[in-house]
Amino acid sequence: MKILALSDEVVDFIYSAQVKDRFDDVDLVLGCGDLPYYYLEFVVTLLNKPLYFVPGNHDTPSQTLPDGRMAKQAEGCVNLDRAVAREGRLILAGLGGSIRYRPDGAHQYTDGEMAARIASLAPRLWYNRLRYGRALDILITHSPPLGIHDGADVAHRGFKSFNSLIRNFKPRYLLHGHSHIYRHTDVTRTQMGATEILNVYPYRVIEWEGAP
Ligand SMILES: [Zn+2]
Repeated sequence: MKILALSDEVVDFIYSAQVKDRFDDVDLVLGCGDLPYYYLEFVVTLLNKPLYFVPGNHDTPSQTLPDGRMAKQAEGCVNLDRAVAREGRLILAGLGGSIRYRPDGAHQYTDGEMAARIASLAPRLWYNRLRYGRALDILITHSPPLGIHDGADVAHRGFKSFNSLIRNFKPRYLLHGHSHIYRHTDVTRTQMGATEILNVYPYRVIEWEGAP
């Protein structure tokens, strides 16, 4: 299985007809936040593959599209925020947003609030473990876990509750954005137990041999 994951930045060659040639063999597209609806709609239209995304801390619920339309949702795409979905045999879950750094910020949560969001998914995840032998395959988030690919400043600190989620539910992958990469030495892949944590900024192709 081949997955195209996107986050945080509109990449010129992806937002062009070239995306069709480069990523025609992709099976699934995942958006890890801070991506405008027009970009997601463009990619889903050209690739014509399922696209699931979560919002980032810079995403506003209503956005003006290039043609002037107001959109409340990226058409043809599935918002997976605080949700669990089955795509074929794959089990996906999503948790958008970043750590709260402004009292009124949209898609911002304290670690306690994020833990409550995770708790609301837990029954589905436990059910999956009983039914399918695993809670979930891929978790898409905007923020990284605490201490993994995160930043020292308040706005870029990761969620501690994600570290617990990884220990409890053991997804095969956690894909996130939010941490922009400025140096080629920045770490973008970390293994934590059974989970491979990947920073996908601004895009990343994941080839998963033996995907369910
Ligand atoms: Zn962000």
